[in-house]
Amino acid sequence: MSDLLRAHTAAHDPDCIFCKIVAKQIPSGIVYEDEEIFAFHDIHPWAPVHFLLIPKMHIPSMAQVGPDQAGLLGRMMALAPKLALEQGCNPYPEGGYRMLTNTGREGGQEVQHLHFHVMGGPRPWLRG
Ligand code: IMP
Repeated sequence: MSDLLRAHTAAHDPDCIFCKIVAKQIPSGIVYEDEEIFAFHDIHPWAPVHFLLIPKMHIPSMAQVGPDQAGLLGRMMALAPKLALEQGCNPYPEGGYRMLTNTGREGGQEVQHLHFHVMGGPRPWLRG
């Protein structure tokens, strides 16, 4: 792990709302859970299907990710299409889903725990 990542990450940040969701201190609509990955419904969905895919480990954003996290991020990317279908997205290519991550204030990030929005379902959606 890089020094930069070590400085910004901890297994659990007690002040982080997504860490509290992972720890089930705050209830959520759980979509998926394994040892290192968690997914749950966004509380303010922008699309018919909208869930957040997050590492359980407290990584603040993509700005702190380095080569050591390539495996974890790869597993998250590979999981997304399976979960999207399970949550009601239509199959590719007519269906599919959008996956995005906001990074930093100017990138529109409101919660400082790395998360990928996974959105899909019949259009038009509220945003984009
Ligand atoms: P960001 O702007 O990319 O950081 O997105 C944060 C997302 O987290 C927003 O879409 C919020 O609706 C969502 N969110 C914030 N708090 C909660 C919660 O307690 N449960 C589920 N989703 C949440």
